[in-house]
Amino acid sequence: MSINICRDNQDPFYRYKMPPIISKIEGRGNGIKTAVVNNADVARALARPPMYVTKFFGLELGAQTSVNEATDRYMVNGAHDASKLQDLLDIFINKFVLCKACKNPETDIVITKDQMLYRDCKACGKRSPIDLSHKLSGVILKNPPASVGKKGSSGGKKGKKDRKDKDKDKIDDADDAENGERSDDELTKRIAAEAFSLPPVQATHGDEDDDDDDWAVDTSEEAVRARVKELEGQVGAFVIGDDDEPDGNDVYSQLGIWILEQPTKPNNVEVFKKIKDLGIENKHRTLQVLAQTLFDKDILTQIKDRVPLLKKLMTGDNHEKAFLGGTERFIGREHPELISSIPKILHQYYSYDIISEDAILKWGSRASKKYVDKEISKKVRKAAQPFLTWLEEAESEDESEVEGDADDSE
Ligand SMILES: [Zn+2]
Repeated sequence: MSINICRDNQDPFYRYKMPPIISKIEGRGNGIKTAVVNNADVARALARPPMYVTKFFGLELGAQTSVNEATDRYMVNGAHDASKLQDLLDIFINKFVLCKACKNPETDIVITKDQMLYRDCKACGKRSPIDLSHKLSGVILKNPPASVGKKGSSGGKKGKKDRKDKDKDKIDDADDAENGERSDDELTKRIAAEAFSLPPVQATHGDEDDDDDDWAVDTSEEAVRARVKELEGQVGAFVIGDDDEPDGNDVYSQLGIWILEQPTKPNNVEVFKKIKDLGIENKHRTLQVLAQTLFDKDILTQIKDRVPLLKKLMTGDNHEKAFLGGTERFIGREHPELISSIPKILHQYYSYDIISEDAILKWGSRASKKYVDKEISKKVRKAAQPFLTWLEEAESEDESEVEGDADDSE
């Protein structure tokens, strides 16, 4: 007996089938484990390496796993019945197998040079991004599809390799278990831990012989004021007239200038601490300032490192809107040479789950002179169009998707 790969597809002629999961509980007490007996067959039906499936279960259940292809043993710690695993498998299929546009399961996982993951559809040719914020994405990047799950390629060495993999698995799992609580709280914890060990503020003024004067920041009040003027000119004022904020509140300028003034870009913990000190960790405009100041011309390689910070601060629709506005301003006013990279930038925002589809589409649907001149605003949206179109198509195909936990990895 087999079941549809896409279980909510009711089409009687649907031809993509897989065996239903068979599991077996072994051991007892603290040592109780679940063997996913036909893990390899299920994975084969999905054209994915078996370890991805087992790992996914482990990550979703917060349980350690062990994988041994040579002995065909796929174990998840704890007792989990087959129907629970089957439900989890639906999520795996939605996130890592089905084409987002046409729902066909015949896809390959593609890893690009800049470490983005896609499902490449053989049926319709579209590429759907894979949610990089899911911890399995990290596992996939570390164990690309081509390097795992190819049976019988290395004969006698295999057993040894598998044992090694298994050991490595254990280490990875330990790490993953830790990761489970990470994303949000990690930052908070690290802030607590590092708050007292932050490097002292750059006070280069007056001491030592400043041969490297380029780096030195003159902190005398007058010099600071002059520099602030210069920087404000550089980025444009951070405070943009808005109805829901009283005017003349320039904590945003303080944040923006502080970031720009550092000789090297401050790390996420330092930035978050500064934001907290200024009391603007819940404000949407904080995100606008960050979009204008965290990145430079190499933004495409820099977004990744800022994901935890941005996700932590992104607490509402206005926040997403402000971040996109800040991006528009950053590019429109400071880096017009990046206009052609806008689809890629938006794509990263989307793939890293920083900005939702809705927010991007809403932003793209109307030029506005709030953040830049209307002409630039139009230009920016025009450049974004290929990505917007792609997103729209993917989204309209998506509407049939069952609402629920399928897209929730938090
Ligand atoms: Zn497709």
